[in-house]
Amino acid sequence: MKKELTREIKLAFYGAIAGAIVTSVVDLIRSKPFYTSIWFGLKWFWNNILSFPIPVWGVIIILILSRIKFSSKEQSKKPRFTDYTEDTFAGMNWKWRWEENMGVMEITGLRPLCGECGTSCSVQQGHLLPYMKCPRCDKSGNILKSIDDIERIIIDNIERGNYPKKPSQE
Ligand SMILES: [Zn+2]
Repeated sequence: MKKELTREIKLAFYGAIAGAIVTSVVDLIRSKPFYTSIWFGLKWFWNNILSFPIPVWGVIIILILSRIKFSSKEQSKKPRFTDYTEDTFAGMNWKWRWEENMGVMEITGLRPLCGECGTSCSVQQGHLLPYMKCPRCDKSGNILKSIDDIERIIIDNIERGNYPKKPSQE
């Protein structure tokens, strides 16, 4: 029954459009004022679509569907902390990404940027401290904090609201 109704509405709608187009073209050919056909189309629309009786359950279904669409849009909106993807720690610039894992946002790809050329560096564990090496200019050096510590600081910054709301342009 629902399908039949939708089909009827669609048919009426397309019929109105087709009717308006056909009369417009016909009017143009006959060199009559163009607005006559628009007026005709509007009248057709009013008579066939706007006065079309929609049962109460139809209105309820439309309301429910629009609400589902609205709430799914709200859910897909990611929290703003996901814009926080770079900062300076231990005298170095760092970049990372956010990835959703089982509904939880996690930090991935946390890497220091080369102080010389800005390239994302590889991090390896040294004897005491991790060290970074630039794949482009071969600059290397110790990192004063572990990756784990950097990650904890990032999360702490978010919990305190102490982070730029958009990636810093520095
Ligand atoms: Zn470099």
